[in-house]
Amino acid sequence: MSDWRQQEVENETRSREINEWIDESNESSAEGSSPFVCECSDGECTSTIHLTHVEYEEVRAHGTHFAIAIDHESPDLDLMVSERVGFAIIRKLPGFPARLANDSDPRRV
Ligand SMILES: [Zn+2]
Repeated sequence: MSDWRQQEVENETRSREINEWIDESNESSAEGSSPFVCECSDGECTSTIHLTHVEYEEVRAHGTHFAIAIDHESPDLDLMVSERVGFAIIRKLPGFPARLANDSDPRRV
């Protein structure tokens, strides 16, 4: 396992924690879409994506899925799941990226 790849996955899991917090504070106003932070592997990325609560839940239902801005996927780590209006859903490649993503899944019980 190379360090930069682990670092990139950690960038994504950190964004996911921020978004979990955003989603919780949004729960009362579930109408329309809300701004979330891009969950790509670039630690410097400051892009904002807009998802409805339902779309966000759809991504979060899988420990290995992340919502990112268009064209922010990293071919070494990510597999495109679906491209939507204004954002894309990716999942971590099998092996250590998926394992790290699952291990840090805030929804895991
Ligand atoms: Zn990004």
